[in-house]
Amino acid sequence: MGRSVLVTGGNRGIGLAIARAFAEQGDSVAVTHRGSGAPDGLFGVTCDVTDTEAVDRAFTEVEEHQGPVEVLVSNAGITRDGLLMRMKEADFTDVVDANLTAAFRVAKRAAPKMVRARAGRMVFVSSVVGLLGSAGQVNYAASKSGLVGLARSLARELGGRGITANVVAPGFVETDMTASLPEKRQQEIIGQVPLGRYASAEEVAGVVAFLAGEHAGYITGAVVPVDGGLGMGH
Ligand code: NDP
Repeated sequence: MGRSVLVTGGNRGIGLAIARAFAEQGDSVAVTHRGSGAPDGLFGVTCDVTDTEAVDRAFTEVEEHQGPVEVLVSNAGITRDGLLMRMKEADFTDVVDANLTAAFRVAKRAAPKMVRARAGRMVFVSSVVGLLGSAGQVNYAASKSGLVGLARSLARELGGRGITANVVAPGFVETDMTASLPEKRQQEIIGQVPLGRYASAEEVAGVVAFLAGEHAGYITGAVVPVDGGLGMGH
């Protein structure tokens, strides 16, 4: 389709699968990384999404390379799990900074050019945990549910300019993030998923590509689960 796409955290995991899905359909795809470089066929920009100036520089580089960002995927994210009473305040604020404030930073940087073009797609990668809650993840769950309010507010602010803002809420996906969970916990999780397995990163990527594609032109402010049924009803 030849659009200019930017995926934060697109150097590995779900972000990489998303970047590849766009590249396969002919878009120009840039990914942020923090020093690892970009995988083959993708344009890499160094960027820590917790740094507003770094975000600005990354966008400028992307704009020079492939034109203004037409599709923004805010995917970069971290966990720093722990029970509330043992969680340090920095573990809360760092996770919110990387997962939620970063989404604000990239959306704010992308919006003016999308408004000028009177077109644009923003997709925010949240989590089923943002809707269900999760013991040991007050920081992560708060950041991920915050993305819903952020996206829905953007949908209202920017809808009149032809810009959509949607959220994808994956369940458990096979990536480094879930590989680090203890085996027993992994089996417990799978036991609660109606489809009885983790998602592949490609299954999440396909939904992100759909929301950014021509068939999703009338979808905005939606929270689309890709969770094997884990969060049904939320
Ligand atoms: P990974 O841990 O495999 O990858 C995380 C990505 O985010 C990496 O590219 C990482 O970059 C990047 N990143 C983290 N912090 C920053 C930062 N400060 N600045 C720039 N980039 C950063 O995670 P996943 O692929 O599993 O997760 C991707 C998204 O999907 C996250 O938002 C996560 O919360 C969400 N998600 C994941 C689920 C899962 O089961 N895996 C389930 C539901 C949601 P680097 O390589 O430099 O570290």
